[in-house]
Amino acid sequence: MSITPLMPVYPRCGFRPVRGEHCHLIGEDGQRYLDFAAGIAVNLLGHSHKGLIGAIQKQAETLMHVSNLYGSPQGEHLAQRLVDLTFADTVFFTNSGAEAVECAIKTVRAYHSHAGNDHKFEIITFKNAFHGRTMATISASNQEKMHKGFLPLLQGFKYVDFDDLAGAKAAIGPNTAGFLVEPVQGEGGIRPASDEFMQGLRALADEHDLLLALDEVQCGVARSGTLYAYEQYGITPDVVATAKGLGGGFPIGACLATEQAARGMVIGTHGSTYGGNPLAIAAAEAVLDAVANDEFLTQVRTTSERLRSRLEQFIGNYPDMFELVRGKGLMLGMKMKFETRGFVAHLRDNHHLLTVAAGDNTLRLVPPLVIGDAEIDEFLDKLSAGAASFQPPEPVQ
Ligand SMILES: *Cc1c(COP(=O)(O)O)cnc(C)c1O
Repeated sequence: MSITPLMPVYPRCGFRPVRGEHCHLIGEDGQRYLDFAAGIAVNLLGHSHKGLIGAIQKQAETLMHVSNLYGSPQGEHLAQRLVDLTFADTVFFTNSGAEAVECAIKTVRAYHSHAGNDHKFEIITFKNAFHGRTMATISASNQEKMHKGFLPLLQGFKYVDFDDLAGAKAAIGPNTAGFLVEPVQGEGGIRPASDEFMQGLRALADEHDLLLALDEVQCGVARSGTLYAYEQYGITPDVVATAKGLGGGFPIGACLATEQAARGMVIGTHGSTYGGNPLAIAAAEAVLDAVANDEFLTQVRTTSERLRSRLEQFIGNYPDMFELVRGKGLMLGMKMKFETRGFVAHLRDNHHLLTVAAGDNTLRLVPPLVIGDAEIDEFLDKLSAGAASFQPPEPVQ
């Protein structure tokens, strides 16, 4: 037998973390790594956060899981809190981002089906998007590398260039049901949509009775500098998928919707055994306790500005390596002039700095939202040392 016990779908590296302390991870060999990856934008409060640990411990001792067949005081409380904090009137809890997007896709289709318009099933999505790895969510993305070996795809998605409002308008037809878009593309390269694009999609949706569904799985929950990124665009979405940071490391996602948008999601149309179990809810409550206030969000924005201006300054020293800095809040990308993965490995293995590669040759920085000056200084030190010692790959002829 040569297959590994862990199904070999990830190219796992030699770093094997066993413990976390605030913004650092400690490996099996006792070495400390600065964590600007945060489990891919998940550990908002860093590692070993006392409030989060306490909430999970307390709930684990009380009640971990019951069925969604019963009433849920825990779920109702968190749902009401999300409703109060956002555009939404109603919430469906999931265990992951892909499931939250899946619920968003079903909500969009059911909205039209409910009105007798079963032919309106097609969702316009955007090139280089990432919506997850289930069959529906890979079908929602145009990225062929995720499709290969899994055909046929789910029908009913039309791909248009990201940030191309004219293209989105031209793609609307008699079967169109809505748009699904990341306000800030994450895996695609930390690319924020423009205000005109997001506001334009809202206007098109209103004009044609389409739903505007946002995938805020990566950019949501304070990551962008506001609780949800849509707030910065001055628009009200119909549906939002959220996950990653929501549990601060404990798996939980949610599909948020307005009452009107959710009109098709009636009894029997959707479900989840684990979704919204009391343990996951307790984790999300603890995360919101920490992040859903003006003080914390202001702090994320000022930290972002400090980090970003240091990065802008830094790339001036390495014009052969870095092209630009982009992103929102503490979701920042440094676009590089070559494939990024070699540099990510170099930073990790030789400088004990964890980052993540993203599309479009982007070095992705999604640190815990609780980084301060000490972590920014340490980050810049490691990044400088890493850039100075890196041998860029030979340009492809
Ligand atoms: C990570 C991600 C997903 C998928 O989330 P999973 O929890 O891995 O299923 C979906 N959309 C976006 C934008 C993401 O970044």
